[in-house]
Amino acid sequence: MQVRFWGTRGSIATPGGATLRYGGNTSCVEVRPDSGETILIDCGTGAHALGQALIAEGRAARGHILISHTHWDHIQGLPFFAPLFVAGNEWHIYGPRGLGQSLRDVLAGQMEYAYFPVALNAFAAKVHYHEVVEGGFGIGETRIITQYLNHPALTVGYRLEADGASVVYASDHEPHSPDAGEGHAEEAEGGDVAHIDFLRDADLVIHDAQYTAEEYPSKVGWGHSTIEYAVDMALAANVRELALYHHDPMRGDDAVDELLTRARERAAAAGSNLIVNGAAEGEIIELRGEGEPAKFAPFMPSSLVRPMGDASEELVLICAVAANEVAVLKAAAREDGLENVVETAIEDLEAEIADGKPSLIFIGDVGVDPMALTHKLRAGGVPAETPIIIVTDQAKVDADRGEAAGVTAWLTRPYSVAYARSRLRAWLMRSMLRWRKAALPPDEEKRLAAVYRLGLLDTEAEERFDRHARIAAAAFDAPIALVSLVDRERQWYKAHYGFDFSETSRDMGFCSHAILDSEPLVISDALHDDRFADNPVVVGEPHVRFYAGVPLHTTDGQRVGALCIVDHKPRNLSAAQLRMLQDIARLVEEELEPRAKAQAG
Ligand SMILES: [Zn+2]
Ligand SMILES: [Zn+2]
Repeated sequence: MQVRFWGTRGSIATPGGATLRYGGNTSCVEVRPDSGETILIDCGTGAHALGQALIAEGRAARGHILISHTHWDHIQGLPFFAPLFVAGNEWHIYGPRGLGQSLRDVLAGQMEYAYFPVALNAFAAKVHYHEVVEGGFGIGETRIITQYLNHPALTVGYRLEADGASVVYASDHEPHSPDAGEGHAEEAEGGDVAHIDFLRDADLVIHDAQYTAEEYPSKVGWGHSTIEYAVDMALAANVRELALYHHDPMRGDDAVDELLTRARERAAAAGSNLIVNGAAEGEIIELRGEGEPAKFAPFMPSSLVRPMGDASEELVLICAVAANEVAVLKAAAREDGLENVVETAIEDLEAEIADGKPSLIFIGDVGVDPMALTHKLRAGGVPAETPIIIVTDQAKVDADRGEAAGVTAWLTRPYSVAYARSRLRAWLMRSMLRWRKAALPPDEEKRLAAVYRLGLLDTEAEERFDRHARIAAAAFDAPIALVSLVDRERQWYKAHYGFDFSETSRDMGFCSHAILDSEPLVISDALHDDRFADNPVVVGEPHVRFYAGVPLHTTDGQRVGALCIVDHKPRNLSAAQLRMLQDIARLVEEELEPRAKAQAG
């Protein structure tokens, strides 16, 4: 996989003699996996030269543009990206899904008549817009994982995995903890822990590094990282190489050099061999991963997530928050078209939750211990899917106690309306997303041991399993039938009839839900099920609508996988049909442990 920087500057393009080495163009990175797809991350002014280069190389006909967020320095090159103006070309643009406006409309905004002579609909190329939320999808054989960053506009970080290598693009991200931003947090907490997980073991991390620890106190809330934070996160995540990115327009090449020296000294002082570089326009980085190439089913995201339903009716509850802050939260909600924001007294909160099924709950610290209250609510049955956000001072954050109590996240003072708005969007989007990955079974390690004991993972196809998949498909006139084993992070298929791939990720799997119960799992219509409606394999290829899976037990009672049938249309099974599917599953179980059976006989 090859990574090339076409724009490294943050905020505003900064051409001139002082920025010749690191470059003056704004955010734009090209990623070229060995399989040859063209993938851009962000479309700042650097995209202009990239577009010309692609045309010159004859590679402009199709490609993919991942947009982190729609601040100007990340999209201003779009109207100047020539491949979009050539008839017959086909391009895909991905960006965070908004609540009110579509991605297309937001991008069209910068090309309105008052600002630009050519409108967005003048793109002669066929352009597909994909609105992304947190999760994963595929482009060809490249696996892409998304996570929200901390920025005053809803911003997505992208992690790309291909050819056994991984690169993370995390630009326009502010430390969750100000202490971490100033480079003296003892240990990462809360959102920064999730950030470290996102960067974990990456071969290259391209990270926002606009400020220094000394500058940071006067820049809190501006949405950017310090070099100290970028280095500390990369160290904690065991990253191989860090590219400092989104250079401040006030810093010339020599000033970036100084930051780089400081960053390298910090990594060295920690006893690490982390490679630190300053992202420089024109620079090419070759990534040769040692890991296995990702083998996840490359489903094309023709419609990655469905357009957002009407969010205006979603209920947001606010409790124990001071009046001036309630006004800020309501203003932030209103900016995104949310009108149903209700302030409630502490003693009424539980009843309001039971009545209204809120999508989001804010709990402040006025006259109450918010963590104790959260604990009480969770114990009373408020599900983990309903986010509870605590509004308090940074100094009062107790991440460990909060996690134990069931706190989803913290909104710490001081925060701006813009910040509250972007965080509110991220939380609401998470809670409105109708896709849950399966919980882990309580005896997961024992269960995995049973899976490994079978010795079937990654073995060749065998007729003794294939025939049961064929029989199941024929008996139920189903296009797909599978015999799955649920591994730690994947569903691996010992038999796969009507489905070309030998494994899919566990997060997207249906069988990982089926193994949670000894009874069969029947989903008549995935689009009408909150656990599956937004699952990428429902929204995109292979468009699962109906699923029926019978868990497969080992002789010691562990549920190692499932026999399942899948259809592209909604269906039901009669009781007799369900019994027949269970009968076939019993036959598959007999093949799971043939030697043990022979010994017993
Ligand atoms: Zn930016
Ligand atoms: Zn930004």
